[in-house]
Amino acid sequence: MNFNTPLLQLPGIGYTYAKRLERLNLFTLEDLIYHFPFRYDDFSNTTSALQAKIGESVTLQGEIWTIQNIYTRSRKIITKAVFNDGTSPIELTWFNSSWLTKQIQTGDRLQVSGKISKYKNKLSIIAPHWEKLDAEQKQLPTRQVGTQIHTGRLVPIYPETYGVSSKWLRTKIAQLLPQVLDEIRDPLPNPIRGEMLPLAPALQQIHFPKNWEQTEKARNRLGFDELFFVSLATQKTRLEWSKIPLVKPLKINPDKLNQFIKKLPFKLTRAQQKVLQEITVDFKKDQPMNRLIQGEVGSGKTVVAAAAIYLVHLNNLKTLFMTPTEILAFQHFETLKNLLEPYGITVGIYTGSRKQLSRSAGDGEKGVPTRSRRSEAIEDARRDIEPAGPAQVIVGTHALLSQKLPTDNIGLVVIDEQQRFGVEQRTLLRKRAKIPHFLTMTATPIPRTVALTLYGDLDMSIIDELPVGRQQVKTYVVPEKKRLDSYKFIAKKVAEGDQVYIITPLIEPSETLTTVKAARVEFEKLQKVFPRLKLDLLHGRMKGADKDTITKNFRSGKTDILVSTSVVEVGMDNPNATIIVIEGAERFGLAQLHQLRGRVGRGTKESYCLLYTSNASSDDTRRLKYLETTFDGLKLANLDLKIRGSGEIFGTAQSGRFEFKIATFSNITLLEKTRQEAQDLLSKDPTLDKYPLLKAKLQDIASGVMPD
Ligand code: ADP
Ligand code: MG
Repeated sequence: MNFNTPLLQLPGIGYTYAKRLERLNLFTLEDLIYHFPFRYDDFSNTTSALQAKIGESVTLQGEIWTIQNIYTRSRKIITKAVFNDGTSPIELTWFNSSWLTKQIQTGDRLQVSGKISKYKNKLSIIAPHWEKLDAEQKQLPTRQVGTQIHTGRLVPIYPETYGVSSKWLRTKIAQLLPQVLDEIRDPLPNPIRGEMLPLAPALQQIHFPKNWEQTEKARNRLGFDELFFVSLATQKTRLEWSKIPLVKPLKINPDKLNQFIKKLPFKLTRAQQKVLQEITVDFKKDQPMNRLIQGEVGSGKTVVAAAAIYLVHLNNLKTLFMTPTEILAFQHFETLKNLLEPYGITVGIYTGSRKQLSRSAGDGEKGVPTRSRRSEAIEDARRDIEPAGPAQVIVGTHALLSQKLPTDNIGLVVIDEQQRFGVEQRTLLRKRAKIPHFLTMTATPIPRTVALTLYGDLDMSIIDELPVGRQQVKTYVVPEKKRLDSYKFIAKKVAEGDQVYIITPLIEPSETLTTVKAARVEFEKLQKVFPRLKLDLLHGRMKGADKDTITKNFRSGKTDILVSTSVVEVGMDNPNATIIVIEGAERFGLAQLHQLRGRVGRGTKESYCLLYTSNASSDDTRRLKYLETTFDGLKLANLDLKIRGSGEIFGTAQSGRFEFKIATFSNITLLEKTRQEAQDLLSKDPTLDKYPLLKAKLQDIASGVMPD
C-alpha cells in the first residue's frame, strides 16, 4: 500500500464507496489523505453530566440504559436513548437514524460528544457523536492517532457527499494514515521549510490534532506547500515558455480593425479597447501570446475575442474556440457567426454531447468514452449543425480535443471560462494546435496578488468596466411567505415582454440524476403556477441538439420562463431576461450566485434577482443578504473565502487550474514569501535537478501549464 494505491484496492473500500468517493474527486490513497477537514468540533472538554452547562460542547463517558426508535405522527423516526455517566442521566436524540438501535444496545459503554441542551426540563444532547469505549477502542490503531477519533477531542469535519459521512472518512483516514506515515518523504528543502512542520506530522495533525495549536501548525505547513508548488510551477513555466519556438509575427491592419469596431452594434468600453490593444501588441511579437482576460460577468469579453479572431483571420489563420458547456458553445457559435460572417469568415461548431455528459455526471467514465458513444455524439452535432470541416473558426466543447479534428493552420486558441477546464485539457488543445497564440478568459474574480501566483505564467488583461447603461440587478432574499407575490410579479413582467430564469436547487456538486429529477419536479410545479406562459426546462444531461433548441428558443424570445439547473451559470447571454429566481440559494457560494445573477441585467431594462432558501439557517440568510448590497464580484469572492473557506472559489468545485484546500489567499505575506522562495530556488537551480522530490511533485501540478 502506498500513496498511489487506488481507493478500490484498500481494505474496507468496495465498489460502492469508491464510486461515491469519486464525487469528492478522491481516487487514490493520497487523495484521501489530502482530503482535509474544513473545521473541527471541539469536544475536548471531557466532563460529567452534572457539571456540564447548557450550551456547552462536551464529552461524556457512560452507559446506555435504554435505546429505542420512536415513530412520530409525521412518520419521522427519532432514536432516543437514556445515557448515564454516573452523575446524572441524560437523553440522547438522533433523527432519521433508525439503524443506530442495531449498533448501540442497552448496557453498551459509550463516549458521546455534543452540545448540552435542555428539552422539556431534561438534559439532552441532540445528534451526539459517539463511539464505543471498549470494543471499538481496541480495533483502532492507537499509534499517533490516539484512542478516540469521533469524540473527546478536536473532531475533524470533512467535506462530505451523499453516502459519505465525516464519520466514515475519519474512520478510514485513522486506519490508513498510520500505515503510510513512515513512507512520506518531504519534498521541501530544509532551508525553505525552516521552522515549519515536516510533511508527515503535518498530515497527521491536520486530521487528528491534539489541540488547536497543532491544527494551526499543520495548516501553515500544508497551506505553504499549496502556494509554493503553484508559484514554482507557474514561474518555471514562464521560464520555459520564453524558450519555445518563435512564431511569425502577425500583420495588424489598424484600418480594418477600426472598421470592424465601428460596425459593432455598440461602442466598445475603454477597458475593452485597452485589452484589445494589449492583444494586438502580443500578436506583433515573435512569441506566442499567453494571456488571460479577467472581466466581470457581462463585461463583454466575447466581442474582444471576436476582434482578435478577425485579426488572426486577416493573416489567413484559423481559430479554435473552446467552451466548458455545450450550451455555451451553441451560444458563442451564434454570436460569432453574427459578428464574423459579414467578413466572409465561416464559423463551425464541434461538440460531443455524450462525451460531456459522462464527464459532468461523474459516473466513472473518466476521460475517453467508448467509441460508439463518441461517434454517436459527433453524429448528433453533425446532423443538426453544419459540419466544422471547412470553417475558419471552430467553436466547441472538449470535443475539440478529438484527434479527428484537423488542427493545421491554427493561429489562435481561445478558451472561455477557462477555470472550468482541467489543466490537461488546456495543454492538450494548445499542443494539438501546435502552440499558437493563446487567449483564455474568466469571470472569476481574482485579487491581484493571487493572480500573480496562480497565473504567474500568463499575462493578465483586466476588463474592469461594464458597458454603459447597465442596471444594477435589484437583489432580494425573499421570505417564503412572499412567494406568491413574486410569482405575480413574474407574471406581470412577462406580460410586459420580459423573460425569466428560474434556477432549481443544486443538490449535488455536479449535475447528477438527482439534480435533474429535482429540476423536473420544479418544472412541473411551475407549469401549474404559470399555465398560460411558455416554460422550458434545461439541464446539463440533455442531448446537445435539445440544449441548442431550448437555448435558441429562449434567446429568441419564444420561451417566457427558462427553468434550469445551474448550468446557465456560465455565460448564458439573453439581454431580454430581467428576472432570475434562485431556489435553494443557501447551497451556492456568493461568488457563484453573483455569476448566476449576471445572467440578468445584461440589457438596459431594470432587472431582478430573487433568492429563495429551502432550509437556511439565520447564518445562511445573513450571508445571502450581502448580495442585496454588494455588486462587486471580487468583494463577494473574498467574503466567500472568509465565511466558507477557500474551497468555494479556488477549491475543487471551481478552480480547475490548481487545487487549494487550505491556502486562502487572504494571507498576502505568505503569498509573497512563497513567490520569493520559488523565485530564489529557480534562479539557483532552474531545472530543479538538485531536488528530485520537488521536481516530481511539480510534474504532477505543472503538467498542465508547461509549454513542452
Ligand atoms: P461576458 O464578459 O460575461 O462573457 P459577454 O461577452 O457575453 O459578457 O457580453 C455580455 C453582453 O454585453 C452581450 O450581449 C454583448 O453583446 C454586450 N456587450 C459587449 N460589449 C458591449 C459594449 N461595449 N456595450 C454594450 N453592450 C456590450
Ligand atoms: Mg462570457
